[in-house]
Amino acid sequence: MLHYPHLLCPVCSGHLTPTAKNAFCPRGHSFDRARQGYLNLQLAPTKTQYTKTLYQARQHLFRNGVFDPLLSSLDSLIPRRDGNAKSPTILDAGCGDGSLLAALTREHNLAPIGLGIDICKDAVKIASQAYPHLTWCVADLANPPVADSTQDIIINILAPANYAAFRRLLTPGGILVKVMPGSDHFKEIRLSLQTPAKDSASSQEYIDFPESSETFYQPHFRPAEPPPTIAHAQPHFTFLDAYRLTYDVSAAHNIEHFIQMTPLAWHTLPEKKEAAVNGNLQKIRLDYYIVILTSQ
Ligand SMILES: [Zn+2]
Repeated sequence: MLHYPHLLCPVCSGHLTPTAKNAFCPRGHSFDRARQGYLNLQLAPTKTQYTKTLYQARQHLFRNGVFDPLLSSLDSLIPRRDGNAKSPTILDAGCGDGSLLAALTREHNLAPIGLGIDICKDAVKIASQAYPHLTWCVADLANPPVADSTQDIIINILAPANYAAFRRLLTPGGILVKVMPGSDHFKEIRLSLQTPAKDSASSQEYIDFPESSETFYQPHFRPAEPPPTIAHAQPHFTFLDAYRLTYDVSAAHNIEHFIQMTPLAWHTLPEKKEAAVNGNLQKIRLDYYIVILTSQ
């Protein structure tokens, strides 16, 4: 959305007026729009190990349907508004390649106004190219340049959270959907790369659930207890619900993309990665912990 109304200047926090070419604030700070359509509102570039290849792999997996159960779970958790209500605003904080936000806004029965933010320019570039009808920004997630009380829904999927900032952005009664990996997430990949969860290069904590011997070939979506890691959200939010979603996807056609995508493989020798790709993995377990919090 070219004229997205809720962005702030990252220098002075003045209201940004976006145009086809740039976005500017009343004090004259101006930010060029990239050829792909996104705005870079990050004051200093952040060094990140997340690369273009990683996000392309994620986009590929998305198109293979690997994240469909997660998508439909998230979709079912997002409240519908009645016909006369204004379209809800939705922010994906840590949007990556943008596929999930694009799918969520498409599947919702009322067109929500979608904004995706990520600190990784390569990710935002991919998102902006693929889904030009939404608004995409490179920006600091610790202090998102978004106006107070403008977001009805914030989704934060396998990405760091700044709960105080998220609380500031939410409308009264708005919801935050936080997704974290469960203990079985990418279990087979961790085993084949011999990477214990605690040594994960990911910034995410793995939630320490008891291992399950069951095999869920079909998505298994069930109520769960809130994890202890959500405790630092408590001063800012009221806990509403928690769910655990576990399912297996076929390793064939996907394993190479998984290995390219996961931070678990960042510190792994190339030959070990190659062995994992060429090994005899049949399935890969995806295990998500989904927590719903409200600003009320
Ligand atoms: Zn300014």
